[in-house]
Formats: sequence, structure tokens, C-alpha cells
Amino acid sequence: MKPHILIVYTGGTIGMIEDPETKALRPFDFTHLMENVPKIRMLDYDIDNIQFHPPIDSSDMDVSHWQTIAHSIADNYDAYDGFVVLHGTDTMAYTASALSFMLGNLCKPVIITGSQLPIGEVRTDGEENLITALQIAAARNVSGSPTVREVAILFENYLWRGNRATKRSADNFNAFKSNNYPALAKIGLGITFDFDALRKIHNGMPLDPNFELDTHVMPIDLFPGLNEHLLRYQLAAPDVRGVVLRTYGAGNGPTGGWFIDAIREAVDRGVVILNVTQCVNGGVQTSRYMGGDYLRAAGVVSGHDMTFEAAITKMMYLFGLGLDADEVKRRLGVSIAGELTVIPHRK
Ligand code: ASP
Repeated sequence: MKPHILIVYTGGTIGMIEDPETKALRPFDFTHLMENVPKIRMLDYDIDNIQFHPPIDSSDMDVSHWQTIAHSIADNYDAYDGFVVLHGTDTMAYTASALSFMLGNLCKPVIITGSQLPIGEVRTDGEENLITALQIAAARNVSGSPTVREVAILFENYLWRGNRATKRSADNFNAFKSNNYPALAKIGLGITFDFDALRKIHNGMPLDPNFELDTHVMPIDLFPGLNEHLLRYQLAAPDVRGVVLRTYGAGNGPTGGWFIDAIREAVDRGVVILNVTQCVNGGVQTSRYMGGDYLRAAGVVSGHDMTFEAAITKMMYLFGLGLDADEVKRRLGVSIAGELTVIPHRK
């Protein structure tokens, strides 16, 4: 049986061409993409595609686009062995995180890829990324079951868990990195999977998609010099339900009175505040320093080692389920789709 793969083409550099007048890159359609990768035929897979009309630069990605992608996968889930989503790199990690939460009980590969250079360019990375993504979407264990059962980002030499990855370079071919979780596979002469790192889901349950996302969430960044007036203004934003607070180091913030008072007052008003670190590696250990412990005591929830992309989309997803603030807080602290590891407190 030939592998049956569905490509969802959303846009991004991979499918762009140069506008002859402005010289700026703009999205083009899928026919052009396939014409430029005749090698795909050598894979001998059955490949179908769904495409965005028009394809978009991923800086235009929005919740409604995530719903469209999730629907494309959910509506075709039983008919395909795996899914490849072609997507711009700019917001790829957000889309990967959102889909990992939206596609509950996912037991098939959803491989997101794109490229730094358009597929029509001589030195493009798009051709290799697309072909490798298709091979990973078709990969089977000896038992015949899918090797990858999660949303993952394939880029150049690595396959990363989607909700653990971050775009780290605007021009390097290895544009993504997961700072707190190993690569799911390394791509060299062959594709070498790390079976310990891959998600092990064998629950035999049907896909349980959830398409509702609540966008009443936002980040607040700490920096030395943040003033009380501006902090309170942000925390009092109309209808805000959740805040991802980007803190220092192991989850620390100022220990001064007005700061903790403003945070505690927002928590008491029912705003859910999630603590994630600004550091690229490691995570929040709230009782390690006084600054983190004050936040914990004020009712701020630890985001452990979650990426910002995973944290903000997880909040959208949990509020989208219609849960109350206490239940959102509880679920923020536990892994839903492999997005966090609870970091033990080091003495
Ligand atoms: N701006 C482009 C996008 O995210 C960049 C890329 O695809 O690499 O759609």
C-alpha cells in the first residue's frame, strides 16, 4: 500500500516568487510549488493537497487560519496516513503549538515545514525540507504503526516537537531549535529517530479536535525600568483573561511592593497569570529565589520550561474549552501534548 499523504499548503517563503516590479517576495500558488519539485514523484506516494486561497505570509496567520488547518486535518484524518503542513517560518512555532493542543488524541504525524529560500531558487532549502517532511509523514514502525504521533516541525537537519520549538534564526537554514527538549529525529544521510523522545500514544481513541480558541490573552514582558502605571494599565486591559508573564531567570520578578500588589490584584480580579522565563534554556523554579516565590504566593502559575509560543496558545486553548480560571490554572501546570517538563527544585 502506497503511503497516502495530505499536504496542507498555507503559504510562506517556500511557495513565494519575486514580484517583478517591487522585487519583494510574495506568496504564489501550489501548482507552482509542485512544478518545482518533480523529485516528489520518485517517492511513489499518493499525495493530495488542500491550499489556502490565497496563500499567506505567516505573519498574517490568525486563529481562524489555525481552525482551517485543524479542520483540514480532522475532516480527513481517517483517509490519510500522515499530514504535511507547508507554512512560513515566522509563526510556525505558534501554529505547531496551537495544533498540538487543538488535535486531541492525535496518533498520526502532522509535520510542519517551510523554507528560508523560495522553492524556485537554485540554492533552495525548500525541496529537501518538503521531501524529508513527506518521508517522515509516511514513516512506519515495524508493526506498521506511524513512527511520529504528534505535531512536529521539520527543518533542515532536525525534527522538533512542535510545541517545544522556537524560530531562532532569520537566515540560517537550521532556523528552529528546541532548547528544553531533544530533537525527535536527526536528518543526515538517513533519518534517525530518537524513539525515547517521540511521543508514545497508543490509546486507540478517535481524534478529539477542539476548534475554539479564546484570544483574550496577552504577554507582559518584565524589564528593569517597567513602571507601575504601565504595568497596571496592561493588567487592566479590557476583557483580558490570561497573561503570560515573561520573567527573569528561574521565574523571578521584582520583590518591590507595588509590583507584587499589582500582580496580586489582577489575580484576585480573576486574571490567570502564567510565569515563563525569558531565558532560552531552562525554566521556572518558583521557590528558588524570593522574586519567584513572591509571584507564586500572589497566585501566579508556573509555566515550568514551556516556550512562550506554547504558553500563549495553551492559554487560548484552555479558555477556549470554556473552563473556569481555577481549572485553567490547574491544566496550565500539567502536560497536555508534551509541552512541558516539571523542573525539580535544586537545593
Ligand atoms: N515571512 C515568511 C513567512 O513566515 C518567512 C518564511 O516563510 O520563512 O511566511
